[in-house]
Amino acid sequence: MARCAFFFDAEPVGEPGRHALDACALCSKPLRRDSDIFMYRGDTPFCSEECRYEQMHHDAACARRKQQQQQKAQQRSRHETAAAAVSRKAGVSVASC
Ligand SMILES: [Zn+2]
Repeated sequence: MARCAFFFDAEPVGEPGRHALDACALCSKPLRRDSDIFMYRGDTPFCSEECRYEQMHHDAACARRKQQQQQKAQQRSRHETAAAAVSRKAGVSVASC
């Protein structure tokens, strides 16, 4: 009970419209204040360990992808002239996730 209390201190209990911590960030299942909430990265609530794991797994895969793309971009930039930078820009925009 006490472990999540500081998240709710500034929030009136039961106030509608403040739903940042009221639903699972993955499956949108409503989270009750008296039920278990699995926090991740300090501010992201999940209804279960499974949902939190899914998000962690997604983030890890995403971070790996970004890292690989950064490495590729660095390798490429060593061989590139300024004229080729435009085409690289188009490729990098795909990397956002
Ligand atoms: Zn969930």
